[in-house]
Amino acid sequence: MITTASKATPSDIRINNIKSVFNRLFPDVAMSRSQLGKEIGLSRMAISDVTAEMIEHHIIREVGIDNRTGRGKRSMLLTIETAFWRVISIDISQKFILKGALVDLCGRIVERVEAPIDTEKGISPEDVCALIHRLMKITHAQILGIGITLPGIVDDNGEVVRAVHLDWSHVPLQQEIEAKFHLPTQVTNATRMALVAERFFGEGSANSLLIRIGQGVGAALCINDVIVNGQSFIAGEIGHIIVDPNGPLCACGRKGCLETFLSAPRILSQIEQTPQRRTQILSESGQILGRVLAISAGLLDLNDISVYGPPEIVGEAFLGSMREELTTNIASEYRKIPYLHRCQQGEDLALRGQAVHAIQSFVAFIRESTNA
Ligand SMILES: [Zn+2]
Repeated sequence: MITTASKATPSDIRINNIKSVFNRLFPDVAMSRSQLGKEIGLSRMAISDVTAEMIEHHIIREVGIDNRTGRGKRSMLLTIETAFWRVISIDISQKFILKGALVDLCGRIVERVEAPIDTEKGISPEDVCALIHRLMKITHAQILGIGITLPGIVDDNGEVVRAVHLDWSHVPLQQEIEAKFHLPTQVTNATRMALVAERFFGEGSANSLLIRIGQGVGAALCINDVIVNGQSFIAGEIGHIIVDPNGPLCACGRKGCLETFLSAPRILSQIEQTPQRRTQILSESGQILGRVLAISAGLLDLNDISVYGPPEIVGEAFLGSMREELTTNIASEYRKIPYLHRCQQGEDLALRGQAVHAIQSFVAFIRESTNA
C-alpha cells in the first residue's frame, strides 16, 4: 500500500480490511478468499464479509475457479472489477497541454482528453473544471473521485499554497472542485505522483527517491511505502538548496543553488555552447547530483533512486558518474549503493500516478460516496 502521511488513518477495521484486500489484488492479481484471508490475517468469516461487500460495490469480482491441483475443494478466484468505476485524473504539470483521463480501478487509462494551454493567459481553475466536465460527458461509468496533480506546494486540505509555474497562490482547489462536482477530490504534488507511478508501473520500491530534472530540479521520497510530505508540505523541494556558495547566480537571487547546476535548460545550454564537451558536461552533472544525494541515500538506507528527465540528459554518462560518486561516498561492507535507474514511463507518469493515488485513497469509502 502506498499512502501520503498527511493524516492518521481512521482506526476503522472495515476500511482497513477493504484497503488490504484491494492492495493484495492491485493491479491485476487473482486470489481466492482463503489465500487473501491467510495473507492479511483475517478469519474465514471476516474475509467472507469484506469480499462480499466489495463485490456488492463493484470493486472486485469473481473471475473463475482456481484450477491449481491440491487437496480440498477448489475455490473461486477474485480480482479487481474494471468495468464499473472510473477515477478522473488531471495533470497540470505539462508546459503546453492540460491532460485528463478516465482510469479504471487497475490504473489503466480508458479515455483521455487534452486541452492546449494558452501560454499568455495561463491556466485557471475554470479550465480544470471544463476538462473534468468533458471527461464526465464521455462516460456512463460511475466516478469514484477526482485527482488533480500539479507542480507546487499543496497542503493537507488540497489548497495550492504556491505554484510558481501556474502563478497560483492560496487556491483552495480541492474545496472548489468538491463543491462543484460533489465528488471526493484530492490535489497533489506532481513529482510525488510521478514517484507513485514509478512504484507501481516502473522499478521503484518501498524505500525510494525520485529526482525530476526539468525547468527546475525536484524530488519525491517514499519511506516504507509512505510518501513523505514534510512539515510544511515541501519535502523534496531541493532546487534552491545551495550546493556551492560561489556558484552561478540563481533566478531566486542567491548563488549556487542546485538548480543553477542541474536544471535541464542549464545543462542543455552548456552542451549547446560547447558540443565537444557533451559527455564531460553530463558526467559532471551526474557527479554533482551523486554528491548531493549521498547523505540522504545513506541516512535513509534507500533501496533505489529513479531519475526522471529529458533522455538527452539522463543517459549512461550522467547515471554512470552519479553511481560512481555514490559508490565513493557511501558504499561499504554493509551498505550497497541504491539501485539507480531512469524513469521509463514517459509523459503520462504524473497522470497515472495521480490516478493510482486517487483509487487507493477513495476505494474504501465507496459506500459513503455513493450515498452522498
Ligand atoms: Zn535559487
